[in-house]
Amino acid sequence: MIRRRTTRQIHVGGVAIGGGAPISVQSMTNTDTADVTATVAQIHRLEEAGCELIRVAVPGPEAAVAIRAIRERIRIPLIADIHFDSRLAVTAVEHGAQAIRINPGNLGGVDKLRRVVDAARAHTVPIRVGVNSGSIEKDLLKRYGYPTPERPDALIESALRNVRLLEQQKFFEIKISIKSSDTLTTIAGYRQLADRTDYPLHIGVTEAGGLIAGTVKSSVALGILLFEGIGDTFRISLTRDPVEEIRVGYELLRSLRIRERGPEMISCPTCGRTRIDLFPLAEEVERHLQTMETNLKVAVMGCVVNGPGEAREADIGIAGGHGVGIIFKKGEIFRKLPEAELLPVFLEELHKMEEERKQQGS
Ligand code: SF4
Repeated sequence: MIRRRTTRQIHVGGVAIGGGAPISVQSMTNTDTADVTATVAQIHRLEEAGCELIRVAVPGPEAAVAIRAIRERIRIPLIADIHFDSRLAVTAVEHGAQAIRINPGNLGGVDKLRRVVDAARAHTVPIRVGVNSGSIEKDLLKRYGYPTPERPDALIESALRNVRLLEQQKFFEIKISIKSSDTLTTIAGYRQLADRTDYPLHIGVTEAGGLIAGTVKSSVALGILLFEGIGDTFRISLTRDPVEEIRVGYELLRSLRIRERGPEMISCPTCGRTRIDLFPLAEEVERHLQTMETNLKVAVMGCVVNGPGEAREADIGIAGGHGVGIIFKKGEIFRKLPEAELLPVFLEELHKMEEERKQQGS
């Protein structure tokens, strides 16, 4: 049983973060933010996948101004990501950003920071203090060295220093992230930060890599932190379509039994006992599951040794045989079919079950 760390609560639009709120899954667009049509299209795909908060890069004034038009066409809260330029942060907030991610120490001084904080306060917009290993102040690097798993202190001190700059402006609607591309430094850093502050934490491994490397690194770091109750919202960072970040995010939460969204698929890796062509079958089933919302448990198994056991446990399942397959529904044999007929019948039953679940839920 996971016991979550007690944190303050902030709100990004209608999404609560911290203070016992569900751990929210977020992503970041990789379109040109000033291209409203492309950005909105990507956000719609992310919304469909279950993304709950979306961050957009704001590299210039066109992007900051575009936020208004983007927001009008999306459902989830929008966070503006700004570096160095306080005017962009103010413009983003005035154009409807529901949170901003900044590094208060690199905005160019107290007066500029004050203008950003005033705008955030006036629009009830929280601020994410986001530091990463590459942006740590020189004096902290000199004192603590570059962050390592043994000594992540520079990251934590940098984050807390930036938080203090906001607190000095009597601003407390804050969440914090400290990003490293190293798994162990991420774990050590967030553990230490969690001991030092009760602001909600955005956790993640930055520049984690492609689909496989990034998923593994993020799952190890975030899995350990979430299991220890640390983390209130997160992004799985992948060099990939951001929709994959959301899918991985929910699988991570599901594997820790923290949250469930959509169906769960169990499928076997196949072995020398497999007598049907399971990979394309499993891929096709998975493709259909990605469009579904209810929490069906689905099994796709290659043989009659372990297959029927798992297939029986699932709401619906297949166990392959020698050129044939058995479909199970709710633990009972539903039909035995030749391999060629298996997939269409299975998918039809799967979609029927999804509809039944939806009706029961409505
Ligand atoms: S379910 Fe059967 S085919 Fe699949 S890995 Fe297990 S023993 Fe092999």
